[in-house]
Amino acid sequence: RVVLGIETSCDDTGAAVMDETGKILGESLHSQKEVHLRENIERVVQEALERSHVAPSRLSAVATTVKPGLGLSLGIGLDFSRRFVRQHNKPFIPIHHMEAHALTVRMLQPVPFPFLVLLVSGGHSLLAVARGVDDFLLLGHSLDEAPGDTMDKVARRLSLIKHPQCSTLSGGQALELLAKDGDRSRFPFRTPMGKTYDCCFSFAGLRNQVNMAIMKKEAEEGIEQGTLLSCVKDIAAATQHTVASHLAKRTHRAIVFCKENGMLPSSNPTLGIYEVNTVNSVQVLSGGVASNEYIRKTLSIITETTGLHLLCPPAKFCTDNGVMIAWNGVERLREGKGILPPNVDVCYEPKALLGVDMSAEVR
Ligand code: ATP
Ligand code: FE
Repeated sequence: RVVLGIETSCDDTGAAVMDETGKILGESLHSQKEVHLRENIERVVQEALERSHVAPSRLSAVATTVKPGLGLSLGIGLDFSRRFVRQHNKPFIPIHHMEAHALTVRMLQPVPFPFLVLLVSGGHSLLAVARGVDDFLLLGHSLDEAPGDTMDKVARRLSLIKHPQCSTLSGGQALELLAKDGDRSRFPFRTPMGKTYDCCFSFAGLRNQVNMAIMKKEAEEGIEQGTLLSCVKDIAAATQHTVASHLAKRTHRAIVFCKENGMLPSSNPTLGIYEVNTVNSVQVLSGGVASNEYIRKTLSIITETTGLHLLCPPAKFCTDNGVMIAWNGVERLREGKGILPPNVDVCYEPKALLGVDMSAEVR
């Protein structure tokens, strides 16, 4: 069985053809930060199919992101897919973009359910227990913006695009690179939400702290906005550190919650028999921000001290791509979950939240 996966939830157009075992037969990815062009989708799908040497008639199903994301972008992928499945008479599998990020790790190693997952990207920050292919328990999410968004905005405020090393990097990548030679102790930002003890996140306050620090420096040096050079690396290091520390504290809280509620195997050896529904001693980190090495290292300290393993997909599978969508399609096809006939009318949902509404809306 072979699945075609299509991803267009944001700026990137991705397509991949995958067999039942998770082997990538062909893929194509077009990243562009400007307008999402309708022609991209035709070309990217064509390219993935050609590289895989799989004719449309041989496909078992088409899997496409239908939520969450930008309405316009989702619509382009969905319109194309609707036409494609009708033309070739193929089953259609609507995919939740964040579920796909969460399950990517299973494409690379057999991680059994349930496991704890932290998804950090340009649009989301959330902690959830992955209990099954279509069963997620949401523990917490961002109350304002996502860490990737915050890092992108800080990078823009610092005009990092003009930095010779950073011109082709995303905001998060640029901050990570500059932070390597930075001294974070020069900007002691407060870790967000220090007074609450739940699994929710907030990054807008941090961005405000960073902006204030930048403004102060610009005023001290009497320079124009966006021209700061002197301590950019230190600001990058401090921002990255504070994001990492916030994520680590919330993740620790989630682990404690899972342990308290019998979702994690007890570390007490006399209680060696674990309930079938306990979370495996695995924590998965995925989404674009998860490719950050500093954040990975910080989280691995938390998992080590709590007796869990930290698993992260390689960086190229952490950001958006067609491969993770195809994999989610394969997982659903295996279990016969959420597979729709070619002529069914599915709509997209820009704001769908993981764990609250997981099913495709069928009109
Ligand atoms: P979502 O998955 O929530 O819909 P998205 O699709 O825009 O959001 P992804 O492609 O998963 O997000 O990730 C892109 C984000 O990841 C960007 O905000 C980018 O700055 C961030 N990012 C990429 N690499 C790094 C890195 N090394 N460190 C920090 N952030 C990073
Ligand atoms: Fe994403």
